[in-house]
Amino acid sequence: MLDVKQIKQDFPVLQQKVNGKPIAYLDSAASAQIPRQVVEAMSQYYATSHANVHRGVHTLGERATSAYEEAREKVARFVNAPVPQNIVFTRGTTEAINLVAYAYGLHNLKEGDGIVVTLLEHHSNLVPWQQIAKLTKAKLYMVELTAEGHLDREQYRSFLKQGNIKIVAVSYASNVLGTIVPVKDLIAEAHAVGAVVIVDAAQSAPHLRIDVQDLDADFLAVSGHKMLGPTGIGFLYGKGKLLDVMEPFQLGGSMIGLVDYYESNWAEVPARFEAGTPNIVGAVGLAAAIGYLTDLGMDNVRKHEEDLLAYAWDRLDQVEGIQMYGPREPRTGLIAFNIDDTHPHDVSTVLDAEGVAVRAGHHCAQPLHKWLRVAATNRASFYIYNDEQDIDRLVTSLQKVKELFGYVTR
Ligand code: PMP
Repeated sequence: MLDVKQIKQDFPVLQQKVNGKPIAYLDSAASAQIPRQVVEAMSQYYATSHANVHRGVHTLGERATSAYEEAREKVARFVNAPVPQNIVFTRGTTEAINLVAYAYGLHNLKEGDGIVVTLLEHHSNLVPWQQIAKLTKAKLYMVELTAEGHLDREQYRSFLKQGNIKIVAVSYASNVLGTIVPVKDLIAEAHAVGAVVIVDAAQSAPHLRIDVQDLDADFLAVSGHKMLGPTGIGFLYGKGKLLDVMEPFQLGGSMIGLVDYYESNWAEVPARFEAGTPNIVGAVGLAAAIGYLTDLGMDNVRKHEEDLLAYAWDRLDQVEGIQMYGPREPRTGLIAFNIDDTHPHDVSTVLDAEGVAVRAGHHCAQPLHKWLRVAATNRASFYIYNDEQDIDRLVTSLQKVKELFGYVTR
């Protein structure tokens, strides 16, 4: 059981009022809030240990390098990577996926090969593959959803049977429907035909216990800012045997072995994929965020979200005119919805006036919205600092929306 009252104390941003009302922050799927322990770790780093990493031999340089490499070790333990060298720090999920697309996909695909993606993908796990398909003349296959909103496993298998599928790019959890995808099974099926799988874990790492070895994922991408960390930091997990033979993605300082007048060779992994000065303080913050989540226990985090989701689902279900999207289970703690014919931007504006923060739009998942036959949705997402009161506030505020905009459908 999480002590939400106690947890809320760690988030100064949640102590304030917005528009004269206490804040009910229901937009953690976009970016989670940051506990003071993370901010303190970052300011402590700046106060005591800041310098560039992997270069100077002076004391501060060594401290900074230790802090950065300790962060890598923490990340590796968090996802159960065999060794820290499997972890490449990136700006976030988007950069991690682009790294795989350009450093692996571009070099390993050719005309006649196939890439499989799903309709649940965020643009960041779709657009890079559209582009790589275009550049390599490989074919892109999109797995659609069953009428109930689950991934169409039959269609997935039929794509794999086409032959020459080299890459499968799949979300572990949808950022719109919350649907948790059976990635372990999808990976096993992909491996049976020799495909390499990249898992977008942006919406699962903050909520579920992730074990890359158990999943047997080839690559897995995560963003720090959705799991209590700062923006501008995330990571790519990659199997050693794949990373070791990959060409670099970006070129410049820190990623080289030897540079001569006209040619250069590359550093070992992971330095090969971390060109330029990295986001050192971001890595420190991410490590502190992981420490915070680990202290709570990922199983407790998941249980808390499941309880909140159950409560929210039942309460929202009673709101007249609401349409909630996606199957009820299995899902993370988020609900996308529309209410009557009211535009999501109008809904979120009214909610904001009540101090309730939700997201409105297509959430970078336009193909999925096309399938849902709506241009946009509202999305309420829950995390460790939310409680039933936040959900009650959402439901009460939705009544205000209906009072204001009810005329549209009346
Ligand atoms: N994938 C999913 C499922 C996401 O929800 C997001 C963030 N909305 C991303 C990828 C992209 O993450 P970032 O913007 O941190 O790179």
